[in-house]
Amino acid sequence: MSAPSDAKPPSQLEHAASWYAASANAAPARPALSADVSCDVCVVGAGFTGLSSALHLAEKGLKVIVLEAARVGYGASGRNGGQIVNSYSRDIDVIESKYGQATGRALGDMAFEGNRIIRERIATYGIQCDLRDGNLFAACNTKQLQALRHHQALWQRYGNDSLELLEGDAYQREVGSNRYTGVLIDHSGGHLHPLNLALGQAAALESRGGVVYEQSPVVTLEHGAPVTVKTAEGTVRADRVVMAGNAYLHGVMPELERKSMPCGTQIITTEPLGEALARRLLPNGMAVEDCNYLLDYYRLTRDNRLLYGGGVNYGSEGPADIEAVIRPKMLKTFPQLKDVKVDYAWSGNFLMTLNRLPQFGVINDNVYYAQGYSGHGVTCTHLAGRLISEVMTGRDDRFDAFAGLPHQPFPGGRMLRVPLSALGAWYYEARDRLGI
Ligand SMILES: Cc1cc2nc3c(=O)[nH]c(=O)nc-3n(C[C@H](O)[C@H](O)[C@H](O)COP(=O)(O)OP(=O)(O)OC[C@H]3O[C@@H](n4cnc5c(N)ncnc54)[C@H](O)[C@@H]3O)c2cc1C
Repeated sequence: MSAPSDAKPPSQLEHAASWYAASANAAPARPALSADVSCDVCVVGAGFTGLSSALHLAEKGLKVIVLEAARVGYGASGRNGGQIVNSYSRDIDVIESKYGQATGRALGDMAFEGNRIIRERIATYGIQCDLRDGNLFAACNTKQLQALRHHQALWQRYGNDSLELLEGDAYQREVGSNRYTGVLIDHSGGHLHPLNLALGQAAALESRGGVVYEQSPVVTLEHGAPVTVKTAEGTVRADRVVMAGNAYLHGVMPELERKSMPCGTQIITTEPLGEALARRLLPNGMAVEDCNYLLDYYRLTRDNRLLYGGGVNYGSEGPADIEAVIRPKMLKTFPQLKDVKVDYAWSGNFLMTLNRLPQFGVINDNVYYAQGYSGHGVTCTHLAGRLISEVMTGRDDRFDAFAGLPHQPFPGGRMLRVPLSALGAWYYEARDRLGI
């Protein structure tokens, strides 16, 4: 199977040919923008960042228009691993030590909020998206297990009392693989069908009076008051704008691209395994990610397929043969699947920052952005939406805690950031392999 090309701006594009697209809830095809309209807030991008922002704002009574280049959930939000992982790609202790106790405390206090927002959304709007409780972090060596002990103590300090460490072979209660030295379970985490979560939130937004245009890539944005946001066939004049294009933004606002790098990661999904085999792999249906720098992540779907992801390519071009890249990783974890067929394979792009913390900010006082979750964005995008709605309606301290994080450009600039990052990843991957 071949990877969809994401190198060009999305235009008249349908969802990637994933298991998610094949099992999506029915949703209307929304029209493209073809008129001149105005609103309080225009949101660019209908992924989790955009939809979460739009829904929070609509709930506060603002008139919101979302412009999506392709379809709702076309980007990472509709094709990710579906894992509800708490906190951030860099953990709170790193934030404390690099940026000070006050920043660590502020972000630490919000580290589990995105997860809660998702669950509130699902409950309030009755979104059918296969929500299941529990995710775990799997240690591949004793050094990683030691890090998990530290991780447990850290998260407990910030109020997460749903953690359970299984050392030695005890972890086989949760994962039918010989690869690990132990696991840390977060019973408050979980997994879900991310495309259906995105579609459900778009419908929720519309039920609150918001409007979503699909197949409407924004081509230019003219700063001012109001901001003028242009697509090929229409214009939105908005008092404020939320830029939520993340790794798919492609050149609309170069200032947002300087300190980040699109990266690809790939997922395969097996044929249905049947209840008995599925339960031998993941007896309690937990989502798993290992602790390697280039990590593997996997879980069962509602129809007992194994959905297995891994690998990173720097830059937005994924491998041509995804199954050839991911299947060996799956078999290393579960050799018992050697005769199992792969039904779906796809690629998606996320946005990496150098410090692996998200970038929030505001340009010209009325163009807000949140991006660069660096691989863990399912929860933080939902938090971002709430914080953007707060800062637009008078509360700025929580948004500013993120916006104050310093971000640097990747070494080598746009030309060399890809090879230099690949070199860095190779170094960390070698350390993981050697367990040092
Ligand atoms: C394969 C994969 C697996 C992942 N697995 C996990 C996981 O299990 N758990 C986890 O926490 N995180 C995971 N992530 C990361 C997570 O999915 C992302 O951080 C998150 O979805 C980002 O959401 P977003 O809304 O910011 O961006 P996106 O979901 O990428 O949405 C951006 C949207 O903006 C639109 N857009 C771009 N430019 C324009 C424009 N000019 N005009 C209009 N619209 C535009 C795009 O079409 C797109 O729909 C994964 C990512 C990938 C790629």
